[in-house]
Amino acid sequence: MKPFIDLKAQYVNIKDEILQCINKILESSHYILGENVKALEDEVKNYLGVKEAVGVASGTDALHLALRALNIKEGDEVITTPFTFFATVEAIIYVGAKPFFVDIEETTYNIDVDKIEEKITPRTKAIIPVHIFGCPVNMKKINEIAKKYGLWVIEDAAQAFGAQIGDKKIGSLGDIGCFSFYPSKNLGCFGDGGMIVTNDAEIAEKVRILRNHGSPGRYIHQTIGVNSRLDEIQAGILRVKMKYIDQYNELRRKKAELYTKFLNEVVITPKEPDNTYHVYHLYSIRSKERDKIKENLNTHGIPSVVYYPIPMHLQNALKFLGYKTGDFPIAEAVSQEILSLPIYPEIPDEEIFHISQIILRCFQENS
Ligand SMILES: *Cc1c(COP(=O)(O)O)cnc(C)c1O
Repeated sequence: MKPFIDLKAQYVNIKDEILQCINKILESSHYILGENVKALEDEVKNYLGVKEAVGVASGTDALHLALRALNIKEGDEVITTPFTFFATVEAIIYVGAKPFFVDIEETTYNIDVDKIEEKITPRTKAIIPVHIFGCPVNMKKINEIAKKYGLWVIEDAAQAFGAQIGDKKIGSLGDIGCFSFYPSKNLGCFGDGGMIVTNDAEIAEKVRILRNHGSPGRYIHQTIGVNSRLDEIQAGILRVKMKYIDQYNELRRKKAELYTKFLNEVVITPKEPDNTYHVYHLYSIRSKERDKIKENLNTHGIPSVVYYPIPMHLQNALKFLGYKTGDFPIAEAVSQEILSLPIYPEIPDEEIFHISQIILRCFQENS
């Protein structure tokens, strides 16, 4: 079986730069909160056009600390999508708040912005839109609703580094943007890593203190924080990759375009909303024949993955929230029909052609 995402194909192209950078850090022997984390924070700030960036240990921690910095706590409700990675919801539960789900759109698989208002209660404190698969959520609408009801907006941009609405970068459009640098993310390091971005200096300072044991300075502790720092080696690796991120995203888009050209008559291919720049962290098709496609690909040694087979409201761990099958019919249907195909900047066009041929043949046999 080939890898679903060939991380080595990327590594070999930047190997010299990476090894040089890691070697420099090893020689400096400064591993935590040093010059690379600081420099990466500055580079991310410039890239996204935000005033503040704070490196943390993971995307999950970014979400958790964002909620803590906004003082969201027990008794509060946070609106989000049932069609996401579990961490979005975990973070809400970490702070004692209650996740309130809103069904998704058929077109983008993102939260349906037209269904948010009816879920707002006096206890609602925040909305967490998730830019799923790298596709931008309609942030104009989200921000309008947030303004009207006085809610915070935390963007879960874990899958969307470099995505845009107009000329504005995803992550810069809400009160806080949260990124993950998990290795397979479209900007990934060689371990865990994450970042919080904001234009609010006060929020950034709170996160800086929270990530380091609630400490604003050596052995002074002003609150109970956590240990969640991005380490120097990961930051150094990310600085190397940042130089290529536009190129990587552009290549992902080209690969996606190629898949769509081959497949759009037999399956539902991803849609890019008007005026947006989708970064195709994942390329996900939708079909009633999902299981058959997956099986045929498998027979040919081609991996494919179901992101995500069980929507959040039907997860065992979240039973206590009291949701049931039928509550979010679109998320449920999409979970049955979605399939992500291999996509990464280095995947050869011939491979995309080959994968597409296997899928097309599933449909020829049908007729
Ligand atoms: C990956 C991911 C996270 C969590 O990031 P980690 O760095 O793995 O903790 C959160 N939300 C979404 C949508 C993700 O894809």
